[in-house]
Amino acid sequence: MLDKTIAERQATVSQLDIEGRAFINGRMTHALSGKTRPSINPATGEELADVANCGTEDADLAVGYARAAFDRGTWSTMPPADRKMVLVRWAELIAEHAEEIALLECLDVGKPISDTTAVDVPAAIRTIRWSGEAIDKVYDEIAPTGPGSLALVQRLPLGVVTAIVPWNFPLSTTAWKLAPALATGNSVILKPASNTPLTAIRIATLAAEAGLPEGVLQVLPGPGGSLGEHLATHMDIDGMTFTGSTIVGKKLMGYSGRSNLKRTFLELGGKSPNIVFADSNLKKAANLAAVAVFYNGGQTCTAGTRLIIEESIKDSFLEMVVEAARHWMPGDPLDSATRMGPMIDKDQFSTVADYVEIGCNEGAQLLFGGGQTLTESGGYYHEPTVFTGVTNGMRIAQEEIFGPVLSVLTFTSAEQAVEIANDSVYGLAGAVWSNNINTAHKVAAAVRVGTMGINNYFGGDITVPFGGFKQSGNGRDKSIHAFHDYTELKTTWLELE
Ligand code: NAP
Repeated sequence: MLDKTIAERQATVSQLDIEGRAFINGRMTHALSGKTRPSINPATGEELADVANCGTEDADLAVGYARAAFDRGTWSTMPPADRKMVLVRWAELIAEHAEEIALLECLDVGKPISDTTAVDVPAAIRTIRWSGEAIDKVYDEIAPTGPGSLALVQRLPLGVVTAIVPWNFPLSTTAWKLAPALATGNSVILKPASNTPLTAIRIATLAAEAGLPEGVLQVLPGPGGSLGEHLATHMDIDGMTFTGSTIVGKKLMGYSGRSNLKRTFLELGGKSPNIVFADSNLKKAANLAAVAVFYNGGQTCTAGTRLIIEESIKDSFLEMVVEAARHWMPGDPLDSATRMGPMIDKDQFSTVADYVEIGCNEGAQLLFGGGQTLTESGGYYHEPTVFTGVTNGMRIAQEEIFGPVLSVLTFTSAEQAVEIANDSVYGLAGAVWSNNINTAHKVAAAVRVGTMGINNYFGGDITVPFGGFKQSGNGRDKSIHAFHDYTELKTTWLELE
């Protein structure tokens, strides 16, 4: 799939029949108001499709269908082994359409085709297949009561769940929500980000083809501020799962409190520390420091945006980092050689540009990049950018920029490295590089984050939970632990005579 030329891909794009309608009760449908919103290709600024702009009336309709499906029990009380078969078939159908879906994600998000082909689509397939395969292998509990009683502790589906997802990893985050929510028997209403609805709509049609009963899954594209808030405050939705910014996550907690206390699980932002000791494999650490921050144009919640390096190796190590950064100059996402695409839109580009200015004004030194490039493309491309001389009190060290901007800090002791790493409102991810197992393990244990790499960055797969400490969230995607976010514990106490 990755041996095609840009021209060959453009020819395929011109043949694509892109679906932009909502998916409600097993069917593609226009918004009741008839309103649409264009979906834009961030690489060119061109319109890809007209997408249904759903409103509160569509949400009420979708919730009604979702509730009816849940109460009917076709899915919610289906034996787990049968739910498994539907999810596995769904994963197979996505695999059969992998090339088309990878292309759609590339166009909608501006992600390099090499990433959507090798990372996003396989991750979605694996997540859905794994969750399906797992669901008939998890057992409930019998409590250790006395002999006169039998107490069953069961996990039951929440009921109707809404999933609200961001634009930076639309397909993967959609799969991380839908797979465990559906595997555990819930009905789901997914609201994709306004910028990136296309792959969620496409895979919903494949779910129906795989045998998911009507009303169990709805995909409603529409604005967060109105449609999203309506879903989040809906009195007939039992659970809410969210991936997005901390600022919106805080609002969602409030919406839950002011409506029906729906179970609310949040995966939020980050400002992740990447700590490099002098005794590590420096060449590898420098290359991975660039991957950690520039992958997906830095539009990654776990991006290693604070590079914290041992003072003694600062100059030589930074030379290697800058050399690695040169390989991340952005390009056309349809080109297999491209590693970094454009920012998602003009607003995000402006945010990144503003932070570059803030960094300069704060007294940090701009070591590499810092500007716009490929201006003739119609997209908003930002150069990979490295700031040195950063202190942890600066805004470029504290705030999530969500762009390809690296802030470099230094330390002289392991204790100081940990102190800097933990001096953040976020606690999503991080890494430590050292060939001394004692140093590496002690530092990894002391950094307060949900995922910590030792001598790697972005390690992990579907078998391990993913989520944040502190203001990076409270839920866990992936692994068996994700099932907990979509289920209630129920005790049934039987007194024996
Ligand atoms: P965002 O602005 O928080 O939006 C996320 C989703 O929430 C979108 O679907 C958005 O709809 C919707 N939304 C916005 N305001 C809402 C409201 N008042 N009520 C209900 N829904 C609302 O985040 P983003 O800019 O799309 O994504 C970037 C953020 O996501 C970053 O902070 C990143 O760190 C975080 N993220 C976290 C993880 C993780 O697993 N921890 C993974 C990926 C990304 P619209 O699109 O219509 O605005």
